[in-house]
Amino acid sequence: MHRTNETHDPNLRSWVESANDVGADFPIQNLPFGVISPNGVNDDRIAVAIGDQVLDLRSCFRAGLLEGLVGDASHAVFEARTLNPLMAQNPQVWSAVRRCLSRGLRQGSAQQTALSRHLLAMQDITLKLPSRIGDFTDFYCSIEHATNGGKMSRPDNPLMPNFTSLPVGYNGRASSVIVSGSQIVRPCGQFQKDDKIAFGPCEKLDFELEVGTFIGQGNSQFKSIPLSQAPEHFFGICLLNDWSARDVQSWEYQPLGPFLSKGFATTISGWVITQEALEPFRIPARKRDDAHGEVLGYLSDARNDAYGGLDLNLEVHLRTAEMRKNNQPGEVIASTSFDSMYWTIPQMITHHASNGCPMRPGDLLGSGTVSKYGDKAQGCMSEITWRGSNPIQLENGEHRGYLHDGDEVKMTGYCSAPNARSIGLGVCEGQVLPSGAI
Ligand code: MN
Repeated sequence: MHRTNETHDPNLRSWVESANDVGADFPIQNLPFGVISPNGVNDDRIAVAIGDQVLDLRSCFRAGLLEGLVGDASHAVFEARTLNPLMAQNPQVWSAVRRCLSRGLRQGSAQQTALSRHLLAMQDITLKLPSRIGDFTDFYCSIEHATNGGKMSRPDNPLMPNFTSLPVGYNGRASSVIVSGSQIVRPCGQFQKDDKIAFGPCEKLDFELEVGTFIGQGNSQFKSIPLSQAPEHFFGICLLNDWSARDVQSWEYQPLGPFLSKGFATTISGWVITQEALEPFRIPARKRDDAHGEVLGYLSDARNDAYGGLDLNLEVHLRTAEMRKNNQPGEVIASTSFDSMYWTIPQMITHHASNGCPMRPGDLLGSGTVSKYGDKAQGCMSEITWRGSNPIQLENGEHRGYLHDGDEVKMTGYCSAPNARSIGLGVCEGQVLPSGAI
């Protein structure tokens, strides 16, 4: 049922040698899209990553190397400063661009000399936000995360009854989404402390390891997206860190959900891994427990059951100021995978549009914290340390209940499967600065 094609062939190699390294995030089977600017100039253009290089697609277009792929929208797509116009195309166009790039970048390509003129080294570019994000929604799709979070506040009734009926979400703040590498300032907020209500710098700053989905084609307002068509609206994914002020969150979240505890910053990785690149890593949707009953019809179909899920390995690395001072690398504090998510990406898209909400190209959907049961398999500090009551002991002797100023959080991920070349998701990282630092 997988729709793999010549671009997924695990034996393909690129004439960009670094793309052939074992463990490279961006081999020729990946070809993620992003927005870059050469260092020192502010001139954003769309690009594709290959090994430790990026291919400048605007420059390739101007040289006549991308003719006939997009039709009338060629100029709009390749001259754009964001990926929105490419995302707005249909999947056949996404696929044609990918096939063209795969053929041009593989060993033996007649285009090697021509394309090599439009390569830039990763170290010479700055990665920007991939799209102009009109709307950002954050879901809550891990049943283990929802159960753990519920246990802390409602030990007798951890999982809310709606969890197994629909993908729970809230409307976030697109304006606060920033690209990997951007610094984070500890937010101020209102919270309960010593039985009083206080306003000040957050004392329980957390990360949330999530997967972001970029919407491709939109839907008209008042028109839903049937589950069978959801993949046509799914452009690709990124890593996402939903920075969270837990003390603010626990005071403000009832009855309308998270607000200022989340809306100060969300970091995403800059390279968008396309839906097509993920084909070899599709897996069946998670089976529902018998006790949960049948899912409603609009959220169910055979294709989603058979391969709506995604097998992604995800990690969180923490590097403290002390580690930096001593030239020590970061330490892996969480290791989990996306294969256990209760709701799939197509189900999130379909549910979101089921009331007629218009989704637009470049919109971003967070999956919710990715957690599993087991030692350090949870995607946030609150769960790993059980709200700070059981701090992590780091190898250098430091402890963490929540994040300290100076801490760097880096998220990474990769996919692997039999008979497929492994691909990486890039990095999503940010350093926490003290309140008021910017
Ligand atoms: Mn979240």
